[in-house]
Amino acid sequence: MLITAGNPGGGTARRVLVVALLAAALAGGWYYYQQSRQETEVHQRSGLVMGTFVSLRATGAAAPAALTGSLAELERLEAIFSYSLPDSEVSRLNAAAGRGPVDVGPEMVTVLLEAQRIAELSGGAFDVTIAPVVDAWGFRPEVTEQRVPEPDELSAALALVDYRLLRVDAAAGQAELLREGMAVDLGAIAKGYAIDRVVGILQAAGITSALVDVGGNIHALGLRPTGQAWRVGLQHPRDSQQLLGVLSLTDRNIATSGDYQRFFELDGQRYHHIIDPGTGHPAQAATMVAIVADTGMEADAVSTAAFVLGAQEGLALVRRMGLEAVLYTNDGQLQVTAGLQALFEDPR
Ligand code: FAD
Ligand code: MG
Repeated sequence: MLITAGNPGGGTARRVLVVALLAAALAGGWYYYQQSRQETEVHQRSGLVMGTFVSLRATGAAAPAALTGSLAELERLEAIFSYSLPDSEVSRLNAAAGRGPVDVGPEMVTVLLEAQRIAELSGGAFDVTIAPVVDAWGFRPEVTEQRVPEPDELSAALALVDYRLLRVDAAAGQAELLREGMAVDLGAIAKGYAIDRVVGILQAAGITSALVDVGGNIHALGLRPTGQAWRVGLQHPRDSQQLLGVLSLTDRNIATSGDYQRFFELDGQRYHHIIDPGTGHPAQAATMVAIVADTGMEADAVSTAAFVLGAQEGLALVRRMGLEAVLYTNDGQLQVTAGLQALFEDPR
C-alpha cells in the first residue's frame, strides 16, 4: 500500500495514514525484535564425526546455514584424514608405504607439514608415524579386546616409527613413507585442522559468536551473546564428576589430551592411547594437558606432545612456542601457565 504525504482525502485519509504508520511501526518493531532475537538466539548442531561427539553453537541470522555447512565440512575432512576409512588419503598413503610417493591433496600437505613441524619442535614426542604401535595396543574402534602387546611385537612396531621417514613434497602434492609397514595416524592433529576449517566457515558467514567443540578440541569465537567470554570446563582426569577448573576464553583454541579418554586397566595399571614414541608404551608423565593456541591444529598436536614430554619438558615446549597450558601430572600437581592464570577459575 503506497502512502504519500499530503494526500487530498482529508479525515479518512489521515486515519488510514495513522493506521498504516502504526502497522509499519509494529511490523518494523517485530522485524527488529526478530532480528535481535535471531542475533542473540543460539543455534546448535551436533553429531558423531571422526569417532567423536561434535557440538557446534553459534548466534546470528546466518548461523543455521553456516552450522549445517560446518557439519558437512567435518564429514568431508573425515573422508580425507580417517585412519580407518579404506579410501581416505591417509589409507592410500599407508597402503603405498615403501613403494614410492602418492598424490595427496593440499589439505593433507598442510596437515602433514604441520605434523612434521611439531615433531621437530618436540624432539619426536609428537610423531604421526606412531600408527603401527597404536595398532599393537589395539586402540582402534574395531578392536574390542585391548591387551599389552608382547615385547617383540612392540619392538617390531616401534622400528616403523620415525617421522623423518615421512617425506612431504608440497610442490608436487605428494607424500611418501619410506619404509614398508610404516603408517601415519592423524588422530592427534586432524581434529584441530577441522576446527580451523569450521571457524573459517563461520567467520566467512559473518558470525562473531560461536563455540565449536570437536571431541574436546574447542574454539571459542568472540563472546557469548551475554557479552561475556566463553567458559570452558576442564574435566578432572581422575573424577569425571568434577572439574579441574574453568577457563574464560575469547577467540582462542583449546585442546586437551588425557589418559582418561581411551584406556584400559590391567592388574591395576592404566594403559591409554597417547604413546611415547621413545618407548612404544603409553606416556606416564601426565594425566591431562590442555593447550591454548591461536590455531586448532597447533593446540591439538602440542597437547599430545606436551602430554608425552611431561611437566618440565612439556611446559618448556609450550614456552618456546609462546603457547599457554594447563597440566595435571600423575602425582596430582596442577600447573597453569602465567598467561592463563587470570582466566582460570579453580573450583576447589
Ligand atoms: P590426542 O592426544 O589428540 O590424540 C591421541 C591420538 O593420536 C591417539 O588415539 C593416536 O591415534 C595418536 N597418537 C598417540 N600417540 C601419539 C604421538 N605420540 N604422536 C602423535 N599421535 C599420537 N575414533 C574412533 O573410535 N572411530 C572413528 O571412526 C574415528 N575416526 C577418526 C577420523 C579422524 C579424521 C580423526 C582425526 C580421528 C578419528 N578417530 C576415530 C580417532 C579419535 O577421534 C581419536 O581417538 C582422537 O582423535 C584422539 O584425540 P584425543 O584428543 O583424545 O587425543
Ligand atoms: Mg587432541
